[in-house]
Amino acid sequence: MTRAELKHRVTEAVDRRADEIIALGETIRRHPELGFKEVKTAKLVEDTFQRLGLTPRTGLALTGVRAEAAGQKGQGPTFALIGELDALVVSGHPEADPVTGAAHACGHNAQIAGMLGAAMALHDAGAFDHLSGRVVFFAVPAEEGGDLEWRMSQRRAGTLEFFGGKPELVKRGHFDDVDLAMMIHTTPRPEDGKASVPLSNNGRVGKLARFIGRASHAGSAPHLGANALYAAQIALAAINALRETFRDEDTIRIHPILTHGGSQVNVIPAEARLETYVRGRTLDAVLDANRKVDRALRAGALALGTKVEIDTLPGYLPLDCDATMARYFKENAVALVGESEYRELGHRTGSTDMGDLSQIMPVLHPYMGGARGTGHAADYAIVDKLLAYVAPAKALATMAVDMLWDGAAGAREVLANARPRLTLEAYLTLQRGMAQREVYDGAAN
Ligand SMILES: [Zn+2]
Ligand SMILES: [Zn+2]
Repeated sequence: MTRAELKHRVTEAVDRRADEIIALGETIRRHPELGFKEVKTAKLVEDTFQRLGLTPRTGLALTGVRAEAAGQKGQGPTFALIGELDALVVSGHPEADPVTGAAHACGHNAQIAGMLGAAMALHDAGAFDHLSGRVVFFAVPAEEGGDLEWRMSQRRAGTLEFFGGKPELVKRGHFDDVDLAMMIHTTPRPEDGKASVPLSNNGRVGKLARFIGRASHAGSAPHLGANALYAAQIALAAINALRETFRDEDTIRIHPILTHGGSQVNVIPAEARLETYVRGRTLDAVLDANRKVDRALRAGALALGTKVEIDTLPGYLPLDCDATMARYFKENAVALVGESEYRELGHRTGSTDMGDLSQIMPVLHPYMGGARGTGHAADYAIVDKLLAYVAPAKALATMAVDMLWDGAAGAREVLANARPRLTLEAYLTLQRGMAQREVYDGAAN
């Protein structure tokens, strides 16, 4: 048996399970659930692991499920194959859940199908007889943001500290025994080709701002009020004016929404609420832009003489993809989709909590096609089931062979070349330090 022969075997094993893998992806697509509430999806993962003879651990960071398989050729690094469980609220999506509004408009259903498909194939092919180290198959909750009020209530109740599944899992020690990790995200963008690897992704912090003014009769006594909506409006204008101060190379993205702007038309608004992310290529760039956003929020409060409560929330750290893993992935991806459909992407301006993992261990976060439309939009749909569900199973399973073959030489090579920026403790200290609350009184200044 050679490495190439084993990879061929696991690829054939995926093909034999193709219908089952597609059915899993489609079942999850039809039952979208929001982050930390992916109960049905988690059960499906648990049942599938059990049918493979694995022993899943469930309820990790509320809904996460992980199972592991050990190579029989001796000790070695532990490689996690990750799939994200959650959907997100996209208004107008034709498949949105009528109660929660959740829809799989980011293709995470395909991630779970691919991860489970890889587990099936490695099992069916008897791959672990030939590998060293371990594979952790990990279904993780809540990569998407949103549902903030509920998550804040969970934080107050002590059931969650972080609002992303991976940070919360890291905090609870569920990645302590993992040395390197990868996942494959679906992409609907034709320019990404059928398989691609980004260099990096933006990081971000979350922000909530609550302007507190004074209500009064909007017709007969507006001079007695302090208009919180106008304060918020000035803050929004100030944030927009700041955009020209950001350097192109920092790829800052700030996209505030107004979540409350008044109670009734004949009352001067006593309260207005904004929510935003502040994203950027490096942590320093995020923090610099974040300080400017705070200034803009205070400016609104100062102009109208309202208060503003500013909450900064830990978000996701920038993602760096591991170059050694990317080299192995390229070989596997080109074998699946052909050289002309493989792309090396530069920096991307979205953010993911895979970025957090990338600061403490080597990770890879490639994209594969099979979807159309726009990510997070109503027209997002999986249109090529083999590419979206089945091909990622092959890519993940062959990567597991590459990493853990020959005494896990591939994984050892990755670890020897990798320079993660943070220890686990330093990571937690950093993220906890991001949580800030400021109350600024514009009337007192
Ligand atoms: Zn998404
Ligand atoms: Zn996503």
